[in-house]
Amino acid sequence: MPAFPFSEANPIQYPGPPPKSSDVVIIGGGVIGVTTALFLGRRNFPVTLVEKGRIAAEQSSRNWGWIRKQGRDADELPIVIEASRHWRQLAEECGEDIGLKQTGVTYLASSDDKMAGFEEFMKIAAAHKIDTRLLNAQETAGLIEGMSGSFKGAMTTPSDMRAEPWVAVPALARLAAREGVKIVENCAARTLEISAGRVSGVWTEAGHIETSSVLLAGGAWSSLFLRRHGVSIPQLSVRSTAAATEPMPEIHAGAAAGEHIAFRRRQDGGYTLAPGGSHLLYLGPDAFRHATKYLPALMANPFGSRYSPAAPADYPDGWSTRRHWAPDSQSPFERMRVLNPAPERSGLRAIERNFRRLFPQLGAVRLKASWAGMIDAMPDVVPIVDRVQAIAGLIVATGMSGHGFGIGPGIGRVVSDMIQGNEIGHDLTRFRLSRFYDGSAIRPGPAL
Ligand SMILES: Cc1cc2nc3c(=O)[nH]c(=O)nc-3n(C[C@H](O)[C@H](O)[C@H](O)COP(=O)(O)OP(=O)(O)OC[C@H]3O[C@@H](n4cnc5c(N)ncnc54)[C@H](O)[C@@H]3O)c2cc1C
Repeated sequence: MPAFPFSEANPIQYPGPPPKSSDVVIIGGGVIGVTTALFLGRRNFPVTLVEKGRIAAEQSSRNWGWIRKQGRDADELPIVIEASRHWRQLAEECGEDIGLKQTGVTYLASSDDKMAGFEEFMKIAAAHKIDTRLLNAQETAGLIEGMSGSFKGAMTTPSDMRAEPWVAVPALARLAAREGVKIVENCAARTLEISAGRVSGVWTEAGHIETSSVLLAGGAWSSLFLRRHGVSIPQLSVRSTAAATEPMPEIHAGAAAGEHIAFRRRQDGGYTLAPGGSHLLYLGPDAFRHATKYLPALMANPFGSRYSPAAPADYPDGWSTRRHWAPDSQSPFERMRVLNPAPERSGLRAIERNFRRLFPQLGAVRLKASWAGMIDAMPDVVPIVDRVQAIAGLIVATGMSGHGFGIGPGIGRVVSDMIQGNEIGHDLTRFRLSRFYDGSAIRPGPAL
């Protein structure tokens, strides 16, 4: 089976060197870093984005490509509604076909409990006037014809969209570069330079960049980077397996998920598939350090994760991963240019079996690529989007908790205004960093 199309073997599209100074430095070339840079760049704000590996090579190309409002935390909804508008506009402006289509997202329910969870979300949907609705068993069978399973019902949002992650985020990076953003790949940010309590520069593996403003959008690596500077965030990462099929007849144009399988029609005529069930958490020092903060999520969904005693070498929370390094010595970020976990074999077998079981008329399921990604999770399943009080000039946007692709351009716009000191237009209280330390109870968002 062909390898995942993004790896450090791919040619560097944006060579260095980085500039000696920049008004803003963005660390991380995923959807959050790229869209923040794009919004700043088009306002003629000098911005440099450094990426340790390749643009979008980690989560931002490995995701399912669902752009959904459905099932979101109430405080994320206004931002994802805004993000949907940006997706439409950016798809036009980038001049490339990123596979953006409004084909809906549907969650299938096999139990009354599941339907009850959907009903909870309907209150949030109604408050925000989105077109989410519940379907009974008959309507569900009518929405996705030919499904062999019998479902109690479903929740569906026709205005939700899909796009091709492999194509979309690199296309947005090309647009950002055309609008003046300086992007440098193969360029790890090693440490911040901090003078009198505020950011004065970034040490990269290719030298120093003088700056007073840094955005850390490092996905699964953010916690490791911050800890080097004495800032602790309870972020862990879990492995999630997915695959793409060869072209197959269209049974549904949108995206849907049941208990045992998630599927999305792809632009190339295949499906992106993922097994239902749990993610794999590698137990490292951070997992033990932050265990108590994850108890509420664990109790709400006790079988949501499986555990492995140790991560492969050089993973963000590996036992042997270095936690301290000097600006002039190799950092863990250069040791792992592209975090490219192996897909779980049992997950791939489940994908083939469960998709075929659901749609027997399609015959054999032939996978053309399989991969896994490390999802950067927070204990309450919502991100941190905030200034770091202890280090003036540092902003963090991370912990998108498995749903950062869809909301990405919304967060990018918000953070670009935060950097410029403008009005943000949304209430970000829920996403503050201090919620983990100010005595607030951990309140998990909907893990639907
Ligand atoms: C299997 C899977 C399925 C998913 N499905 C969906 C979905 O359908 N819909 C949805 O909305 N979301 C989905 N997600 C989640 C979504 O992909 C992520 O939330 C989103 O891509 C996160 O973007 P990011 O920019 O924060 O992080 P990333 O895309 O992980 O990017 C972070 C980047 O920072 C770089 N970096 C880190 N440290 C440094 C450093 N020190 N110096 C330089 N560079 C650095 C990394 O190399 C990386 O490229 C899924 C995720 C996975 C793994």
